[in-house]
Amino acid sequence: MKKESKKYVYFFGKGMTEGSADMKALLGGKGANLADMTSIGLPVPPGFTITTEACAYFDQHKGGYPEGLRDEVIANLHKLEKLMGAKLGDKENPLLVSVRSGAAQSMPGMMDTVLNLGLNPDSLQALIKKTGNERFAWDSYRRFIQMFGDVVMGVPHAEFERVLQSVKDENGKKFDTELDVENLKEVIKRYKIVYKKFTGEEFPVDPEYQLFKTIDAVFNSWNNERAIKYRLMNDIRGLLGTAVNVQCMVFGNMGETSGTGVAFTRDPSSGENKFFGEYLMNAQGEDVVAGIRTPQTIDTLKNVNPEVYAQLCEIRETLEKHYHDMQDLEFTIQEGKLYMLQTRNGKRTIFSWLRSQVEMVEEGLISKETAVERVPAQEFNKLFAPILDNKIIRDLNCKVATTGLNASPGGACGQIYFTAKAAEEAAAEGKDVILVREETSPEDIGGMAVSRGVVTCRGGMTSHAAVVARGMGCPCVSGCGEIHVDEIKKTLTVNGVMLSEGDYMAIDGFTGAVYTQKIPVKPSEIMQVLDGTMRESESLLFQNYKKFMSYVNEIKTMGVRTNADTPKDAHHAVLLGAEGIGLCRTEHMFFGGNRILSMRKMILADNIGAREQALSELLPMQRGDFYNIFKELNGLPVTIRLLDPPLHEFLPNDSTTRHETALQLGISVEEIAQKISKLHEFNPMLGFRGCRLAVIYPEILAMQVRAIIEAAIQAKREGYDVKPEIMIPLVGIYKEFNFCRDKAIEVINKVFDEQGLKVAYKIGTMIEVPRAAITADEIAKTAEFFSFGTNDLTQMTCGFSRDDAASFLGHYVNDPDKQFYEYDPFATIDFDGVGKLVKMAAGLGRSVRPDIKLGICGEHGGDPKTIAFCQEVGLNYVSCSPFRVPIARLAAAQAAISKKKA
Ligand code: PEP
Ligand code: MG
Repeated sequence: MKKESKKYVYFFGKGMTEGSADMKALLGGKGANLADMTSIGLPVPPGFTITTEACAYFDQHKGGYPEGLRDEVIANLHKLEKLMGAKLGDKENPLLVSVRSGAAQSMPGMMDTVLNLGLNPDSLQALIKKTGNERFAWDSYRRFIQMFGDVVMGVPHAEFERVLQSVKDENGKKFDTELDVENLKEVIKRYKIVYKKFTGEEFPVDPEYQLFKTIDAVFNSWNNERAIKYRLMNDIRGLLGTAVNVQCMVFGNMGETSGTGVAFTRDPSSGENKFFGEYLMNAQGEDVVAGIRTPQTIDTLKNVNPEVYAQLCEIRETLEKHYHDMQDLEFTIQEGKLYMLQTRNGKRTIFSWLRSQVEMVEEGLISKETAVERVPAQEFNKLFAPILDNKIIRDLNCKVATTGLNASPGGACGQIYFTAKAAEEAAAEGKDVILVREETSPEDIGGMAVSRGVVTCRGGMTSHAAVVARGMGCPCVSGCGEIHVDEIKKTLTVNGVMLSEGDYMAIDGFTGAVYTQKIPVKPSEIMQVLDGTMRESESLLFQNYKKFMSYVNEIKTMGVRTNADTPKDAHHAVLLGAEGIGLCRTEHMFFGGNRILSMRKMILADNIGAREQALSELLPMQRGDFYNIFKELNGLPVTIRLLDPPLHEFLPNDSTTRHETALQLGISVEEIAQKISKLHEFNPMLGFRGCRLAVIYPEILAMQVRAIIEAAIQAKREGYDVKPEIMIPLVGIYKEFNFCRDKAIEVINKVFDEQGLKVAYKIGTMIEVPRAAITADEIAKTAEFFSFGTNDLTQMTCGFSRDDAASFLGHYVNDPDKQFYEYDPFATIDFDGVGKLVKMAAGLGRSVRPDIKLGICGEHGGDPKTIAFCQEVGLNYVSCSPFRVPIARLAAAQAAISKKKA
């Protein structure tokens, strides 16, 4: 029996559409939505989509096609020709097509597009005859040569640009649109010479050859450098490749009644519910986004063509109702008739995400779950990003040097650089960089990624710079026509002011203002309202944030605590929504003021009496810290970890401080040196630290436990609700835990007696030594809670040091032909290794103590992917640094939704 061959090509066209919206993995986002838009009756030029599976095959077979693909493409081309009553590149009635890439996840501008395919000297004449528009036909041909040459054959784009510019200069023309037929003929003549010079071939005339060459180029573009970089930066993984969309051309360059544009159904920068977009009349394809001419805003289209504008507004509504999300659409107007070329979920800033989703919930368009599910957790902390300090602007009377378009929100200040490369070098030196470019191209993304802000001279709100900066959450001001950059001299001038590379500039991505001076940035509005320096009613951002976080709290089931060591950090974290402290590292308290001296005295003591004396100096200080933390956390649990690091970390390591310490303690420098040498360890992380300190020096534990309980009682007496949890670090065997626990209980009971008042408390342990995870059932017999210390657990399980792994770990993670670990295991939990231990320990712990409280307090506790894992395992809470608390809350809610759906 003949094997049913796989289908690689899907047609779309009125009544003949084979694909659908849910086929994004196979048809790419663009292909699936073209099929879908056709099905709901929108005016979409017909065509066909070659699947991502074909691209994957092409990749794996060094440019080979799967069996039957070529025939399928030809068959679909014939179908399209029949539907249109025209033939690709025909000399009587030519069909022209566009060929565009489109992966399952959108990667704006990263891969290739060729328009007007099918043109050659014969079909050109036919096109002139058919349209009666000679200029249009020649313009289309010159664009095709340029795109085919650049995209398919790798002829440098700049070579074509140079030719175009020289013909414009020779004829005194400023814009492309001013070139007449004779000028265009000259451009084409020269283009063909450039083409031959670089390829060694004549420009191809055979339409099928043109088509297949272009399909190959689109497949190949999946693995071009910028696409790879983009996927890496945006953590886009596991896709097959790009689909290829071959679509009947419609023309925006047929004169002043034609045009092309891109629009968003809401503002991608602020999220405001208003139609937002740009268009250019007599233009084609990338003209709008490439920033060649500064485009018109969409609302002015109603003066140019009110019917088309009204139709677009209607489509805007249809699309939002259909997709229940903000759409980014591309359209072309051909001689007054509107065509839709693309729709996809719009890329937007986190500000826009927040506002659009909250408003869509209020409009009844989406549920709270949907809103929470969509907002990207990884970007959430950009809401808290700084803004330019308006007070300083007023006080110093800073003058706006120029105003461009407010393309991506946020304030930024830094030193200016004019190329992506220079920006990357300066950022590597630790400088704050503002990248200033005439316009950006996809090659610039590396430089943009390291910049605090981006400024462009040309290009609109939908230009490459604007779209990419918004995606990165990088403040951007685009289209600053008054800035003139001289890349060679490394200077810019703006309204009479000249700046050189390295000079300061400040930009306001909310308003588009550019300042040629240093202006400090200050906390975001959300932080200002939380700190009480701004009123809630003054900040729409805060109001939306508050509403959104109320949805988050309704949905999430896991707790989010914070890792905080000081009352100030704790205060900050509680403002951001922390529901307790999951890890208070007490060692940090020993560094400030005189404390370090008492600590050193304790370490250098050579008998228990001297050690206890030094500890008694530390006691009131620790008690004070804990008391203040208990007050901040009123009603919320506070997990305090007993001393963890090796003692040598507290001793002075430079000779000046050693001398000072010797003098202060009245001992000799030699004594200090001897102690340091005695404490020296080859592997301090596997050495004398954690609970091992408490086992050998129980008096240290006794002092800390006393400080905790006395502080708790003091706070309780003053009416605060205290929930202390004492945590023993680095336990490997239950006997260690029991030893420490017994000592702690002894002290606690003593303090209760002394004070005549008790407080409820818990004693538990960190699970950060693999042995503890493996024997968690034994430990859980006495431990009331486990907190997974995944920093140590990772280093001990994987066998590489958290402090020294950088030299090879980067290769293990990022090297495309290695990727032994999917993600950095110190940032995202190694699910199959460390994760397996966590899962096992959680199960073992619950098997003997069903109500055991389980949490995580390693760095992973703030990572959304790890948080999803924690939800899976059923941990009670995650704990992370204060500034990641909002991300963790959102990620926890998202994890709860996924779990419910699974
Ligand atoms: C851990 O090991 O995960 C942990 C939280 O403790 P520390 O980072 O202080 O070793
Ligand atoms: Mg640890």
